[in-house]
Amino acid sequence: MKFINKYKSSNFNERKFSKIDLIIIHYTALKNIEEAIKFLTTTENKVSSHYVISNSGDIYSLVKDEKRAWHAGLSNWKNNTDINSRSIGIELDYSKFNSNNKFTKKMLQSLSLLLKFLINKYNINYKNVLAHSDISPFRKQDPGPSFPWNYLYSKRLAYKPNIKVKYDLKKLEIWFEKNSFTTKKQISLFILNYIGYDIREVNINKLYFKKLIKAYQMRYLQKNLSEKIDTKTFNFLLKHYLSLVLTKN
Ligand SMILES: [Zn+2]
Repeated sequence: MKFINKYKSSNFNERKFSKIDLIIIHYTALKNIEEAIKFLTTTENKVSSHYVISNSGDIYSLVKDEKRAWHAGLSNWKNNTDINSRSIGIELDYSKFNSNNKFTKKMLQSLSLLLKFLINKYNINYKNVLAHSDISPFRKQDPGPSFPWNYLYSKRLAYKPNIKVKYDLKKLEIWFEKNSFTTKKQISLFILNYIGYDIREVNINKLYFKKLIKAYQMRYLQKNLSEKIDTKTFNFLLKHYLSLVLTKN
């Protein structure tokens, strides 16, 4: 792997766990790669990432993998809250409001090489390649609805449920109802939590439920950003659950 080591960030500390088992994908929401590097290496900002990838596909290594970079912030996945201590953070030079508003082919090629490299090096499950919005659905939107997850799914560098699972979804719905999940919302929250999402605050704040559904849709139903449990989203969630329960990988 070819990394550019010219710029380093001092915004890191020691990991609390030795095992690295998550990879988090972000976008910078800044104008260009120069601004991104400046932002991620300025001490006062107290943020960083292990890598940032430019539009032209250059991969800058800002923090050593073994150190705890500060990219996840307040976050939660499968009830783990110190995501920085167990993850690698990758920033992409992208902002939807500026000229770097595309995930370029070269950027995506470099990202997939880097993911492959890290997945092999640390033996990371491809189900654990996540969006910042997956682990912080109430605060974050990156890498956003335009990020081409399908590109990563097709290379098995991120997980997409097998929605061709043959199973009577109605039966599954009845099973949920028998187990006292009486509304679509309850069933959906159960499944989202089973996948890994943080659902604790959703019952307190209605807006949070919408944000959670949007985070899920940005990953799996990018053309269907209704922020609601519509039929398409609900059926996809049921299939997602089945796909996780019925298949090992
Ligand atoms: Zn982010």
